Amino acid sequence: MEAAFPEPLRRAIRALSLLPGLGEKSATRLALYLVSRPEKAKELSAALAELPRVKLCRECGNFTEDELCGFCRHPERDPSVICVVEDPAALSVIESAGIFRGRYHVLHGLLSPRDGLGPEELRLPELLERIRRNGVREVLLGLSPTAAGEATAAYILELLRDYPVRVTRLACGLALGMEVRYADPLTLKRALLSREILK
Ligand SMILES: [Zn+2]
Repeated sequence: MEAAFPEPLRRAIRALSLLPGLGEKSATRLALYLVSRPEKAKELSAALAELPRVKLCRECGNFTEDELCGFCRHPERDPSVICVVEDPAALSVIESAGIFRGRYHVLHGLLSPRDGLGPEELRLPELLERIRRNGVREVLLGLSPTAAGEATAAYILELLRDYPVRVTRLACGLALGMEVRYADPLTLKRALLSREILK
C-alpha cells in the first residue's frame, strides 16, 4: 500500500504523537496544520531547537540558561527565606503574586508512592544542603493543599525537625485540593501574607 503522506510529514506525525496528551489523531492534525504553514513550522522548530539550552539552576532547581537562575543571582532576594515549590509552574505563580522576596527551591515533584516518586526523587538533599550552608531562617512550604502536597509537607517538616529553622506554609485562601499552579495571584498574595507557622 502506498503511504498517504510523504516521509517528512510522517516523521513529524510520529514525533508529535510521542508527546504527552497527543494521540496519533491530534498529531496528524497538528502536522497537517504545520505543513501548510511553513513559516509557523520554522518558528516552532527554531524555538524547540533552543530548549536543550535550558537547564536546572544548580542552587534551586529552577529552569535557567545559566548556572544560577535569576532569583539565586538577585542581590536583593533574601537567601535566609526559602520557599519550597513543587515545580517551576508553581514558582512562577507564587512569584506573580509579587509578595515573596526570598529564594525558591524547586522539588520537581511531590511524594507520590503510587507514581513511584519517593523522597530520593525529589530535590530534598539539595534543600538540606542549602539550609546548612546559607544560614536559612525560614522554610516556607509553598505546596498545594492536595493529598500529595500535604504528604510532602509533612515529610519535609519531619526532615527539618532538628534544624534550627522556622517552617511555615501558605495559609488561608488556598482551597483544599487546589494546586498552587492554578491559584490566582490575589489568592496567593493572601496565602503568602498570612502564612501559618508549623514549627
Ligand atoms: Zn536558582
